Amino acid sequence: MAEHHHSKVLILGSGPAGCTAAIYAARASLEPLMVHGLQPGGQLTITTDVENYPGFAAVIQGPWLMEQMEAQARHVGARIINDIITHCDLSKRPFECFGDSGDRYTGDTLVIATGAQARWLGLPSEQRFQGFGVSACATCDGFFYRGKEVLVVGGGNTAVEEALYLTNHASKVTVVHRRDHFRAEKILQERLFANPKITVIWDHMLDEVLGTDDPLGVTAVRLKQVKTGALRDLPVHGVFIAIGHTPNTALFKGQLEMDQEGYLTTRQGTTLTNVGGVFACGDVQDKIYRQAVTAAGTGCMAALDAEKYLAHHASAKVAAE
Ligand code: FAD
Ligand code: NAP
Repeated sequence: MAEHHHSKVLILGSGPAGCTAAIYAARASLEPLMVHGLQPGGQLTITTDVENYPGFAAVIQGPWLMEQMEAQARHVGARIINDIITHCDLSKRPFECFGDSGDRYTGDTLVIATGAQARWLGLPSEQRFQGFGVSACATCDGFFYRGKEVLVVGGGNTAVEEALYLTNHASKVTVVHRRDHFRAEKILQERLFANPKITVIWDHMLDEVLGTDDPLGVTAVRLKQVKTGALRDLPVHGVFIAIGHTPNTALFKGQLEMDQEGYLTTRQGTTLTNVGGVFACGDVQDKIYRQAVTAAGTGCMAALDAEKYLAHHASAKVAAE
């Protein structure tokens, strides 16, 4: 039977941003409720080694880190529910959200931590080697390709920045782009063209990632000329897909301010959205840094902002009585 769950702080998403918001809100005695969504633990659950999250001298695994964050949130008293929110009404007070399960969720405040998803090409071989030579995050995985040759797919700012970043580790970086010019900012392009470690292959698409089963790993890529259809193989050890990200904000279209790409807009230096009592943290409002540690940082900010909002409204209510 459908249930109604109310909390002072309703948190959507259980990635680093949602978990950190839950930990801080629980420790502030706000009894938060966190809804997992389709990907409990968020994006880090689809990666392997994480080497840049502070506090761990040894290499840790993304899924393990997220288990720890969730366990910590539970330990300090957060309630966590498995459900996917299908729609929300932010014109109501308390805010109202509905789950795929049929359950109804209300919150005196709402913390949106629904993250973003890297866009993938959709190739079966791309999926097969994901986490084993195919990545969507150079900052996260570039280190593993020290002295090796890698490929970057894309022609926007992200692709160019990822390629430049990868030259810190890789011996050679090849960028493959489906057109004959980049859409990236000129200054970034100039830096890329000036870098002797980077080669660009124009008018080509990634057709297939080639590799071995045991151990699972990438050895080469097959590229296709978009005009002629001609195929060519290029030996590489790593493939970085950099064709953009999509923030998970469809739920809030028409209800919250977003930028042109659908990222939620927050007031600078805070997690405040344009609707009082609704806060956004993590990748759902960040198209620049997109790291677990920055998501956790803004998750903390969202809980503190929610606490402040509730305290202010509680004292305003007392004053009015
Ligand atoms: P996410 O982790 O994206 O979590 C979003 C959450 O929202 C999920 O729990 C999802 O289920 C939930 N959600 C979405 N829609 C709904 C809905 N309708 N209802 C309820 N819940 C919903 N960063 C690093 O710092 N170091 C790394 O090594 C690193 N490696 C990475 C490797 C890969 C392959 C990828 C893809 C990313 C990597 N990142 C890394 C980036 C990092 O994972 C993200 O920056 C971080 O996870 C963002 O956290 P978040 O909490 O904002 O969102
Ligand atoms: P983007 O600007 O949308 O670029 C995506 C790139 O991937 C484009 O070159 C596109 O090709 C290519 N692409 C898309 N789908 C593809 C497919 N199926 N196959 C092959 N190629 C494909 O995305 P982004 O680079 O991630 O940037 C997103 C936003 O963040 C932009 O507004 C960007 O300015 C901003 N950003 C800014 C900075 C910065 O300021 N330093 C850094 C990173 C990102 P086409 O060009 O042919 O369409």
